[in-house]
Amino acid sequence: MITYKTDEEIELIRQSCLLVCDALTAVAAMIGPGVSGQQIDTAAEQVIRDHGAVPGFKGYRGFPATLCISRNEQVVHGIPNGQSFKDGDVVSVDCGVLMNGYYGDAAYTFAIGNVPEKTMELLRVTKRSLYLAIEQARVGQRIGDISFAVQNYCEVDHHYGVVRELVGHGVGKNLHEAPDVPNFGKRGKGLKLKSGLVIAIEPMVNLGDKRVAQAEDGWTIYARDHAPSAHYEHTIAIRDEGADILSDHLRIEAAIKNNAELKEISNKN
Ligand code: MG
Ligand code: MG
Repeated sequence: MITYKTDEEIELIRQSCLLVCDALTAVAAMIGPGVSGQQIDTAAEQVIRDHGAVPGFKGYRGFPATLCISRNEQVVHGIPNGQSFKDGDVVSVDCGVLMNGYYGDAAYTFAIGNVPEKTMELLRVTKRSLYLAIEQARVGQRIGDISFAVQNYCEVDHHYGVVRELVGHGVGKNLHEAPDVPNFGKRGKGLKLKSGLVIAIEPMVNLGDKRVAQAEDGWTIYARDHAPSAHYEHTIAIRDEGADILSDHLRIEAAIKNNAELKEISNKN
C-alpha cells in the first residue's frame, strides 16, 4: 500500500533525515586511515541519541548496528567491525533514524586518503546519477523515469554495473514502504508520481559487473567480481513544485573538506 504524506508528515520526515545527515557529518569529520567502522558507528549513535531519537537500523530484522558500513567491493548492509580503514578505501555509510514516529534514510560514500582515479570517477558518476534521478521525480512522471535515469547514465554512458537485487523505497512510519524504486527500468513505466509521495532514491553502482552475492554473515552484499562499489542516497518528497530533497549531503561534504584541510595542516607541522 502506498501512503501519501501530509505537509506536516513531510516536515517530520525531513527532521529525521537531517538528523541522519548530522550523524553522517560526525562520521565525515572523523573518518580516515586508522579509524574503524565501530568507532564511526559509536559516534553516529551518540549524535542520534543526543537528539532523543533512535537508530533506525539497529534491531531492524536483527541488524546489530546504527550504520551499514560497506567497504570497497561491499555494496551495502556491511556490519561495523573493529578493522581500521586504509588509505585508498571507499566506504559507503548508510544511516537511518526514527524520530517522532517517522524514519529518515540517507547514505554517502567516503573516499579514504588517496583513492585511484578510476574509483573516484565511479563515486562521481554514482552521485551524479542520484541527482539525474531526482530531476525525474516530478508530479506526472513515473517510477520508471527515475530508474531509467540511473541505469542510462551509469550503464550506457559509463559502462558500470547497476545492482538489481537492491532498490530504493518509500519512507514514512516504516523504514521501507511501497513503492520499490529500482535503479534500472524503462521510461514511462511504473507508478505515476503524485504529490506527497516520499521515497528514498539510492543508486548502488559497481565499477565492474552488476552481479552481487551475500556474505556468510547474512547481511553484507558484495560485488561478485570484488571490484569497488558506490552508494549514495537521498530521501525526497514529490511536491507540486518538484522534488524536495529532505536529506542534506552539503553538511557532510563541508565536514569532508574541513577534515581534509585539518589533515593537510597537521601533515605540514
Ligand atoms: Mg539508507
Ligand atoms: Mg534506503
